[in-house]
Amino acid sequence: MADRMGGQMAFDFDELAREDARASLGEWSGAPLHFTMDYYPPHELDEAFAHWCFLNTRFDSYASSHTWHRAISIPGDMTVGGREHTASTFTAELRPRVGQEGPGGLLTQLICEPCEWHAIGADENHAVEAWHDHAFPGWRQLPVIPSQIRVRSERGLTKLATAWIAEHYPIEAQVPGAPIITERAPHGTRHVAGYSPWGGYDLSATALDRPAPATTPARRSLTRVLPEPLPPGSAPARPGRTLGG
Ligand SMILES: [Zn+2]
Repeated sequence: MADRMGGQMAFDFDELAREDARASLGEWSGAPLHFTMDYYPPHELDEAFAHWCFLNTRFDSYASSHTWHRAISIPGDMTVGGREHTASTFTAELRPRVGQEGPGGLLTQLICEPCEWHAIGADENHAVEAWHDHAFPGWRQLPVIPSQIRVRSERGLTKLATAWIAEHYPIEAQVPGAPIITERAPHGTRHVAGYSPWGGYDLSATALDRPAPATTPARRSLTRVLPEPLPPGSAPARPGRTLGG
């Protein structure tokens, strides 16, 4: 009986805390509990998603909340060289539910926290490329590893690829977080995080078919690689924090 009482009380306490949090939603000062195009540091996006789940439910939370959450395939952050740039990868689920009209697609956001910089793309590859334009402005000139060279085996990078990269890549481009570019078949052109010898991306050479942006994205700017018009559900810019780009 005592145990049942304890369990019952614990349950009620959780529910009370939730009701409390719902009642004081106006005091929430973190990142929005809905979709936003504004810049927020990664930990604020993490907190907002966790708070949305606390208030509502973790079940189907990606599609229901439309908030930014960590990309399932890239849960951790990446640091470049002497920590001057970082990449934190989030996705926002705006695709329509089955049988419904939806607000948009599956969006990808890459954030560089030291620079308060972010890029949002309707295509994950485009957002990744925008981040490389920001963090590695010369990456489009890197040598493309030809498809004749097998880059990976089950055990990671092959000896042949490692030797080819060491010989052909500029020494200043062989730093933590730096990418490699590989020639791909018509399919399998997704950029893959963590597959360069230095923990950076293995970029598909198909990225080079797209023109480079005219200007290097500046500090504190939002790079949009979205089709126009922007998806409905985009929150208006937050007053007091303006973004160029
Ligand atoms: Zn940066």
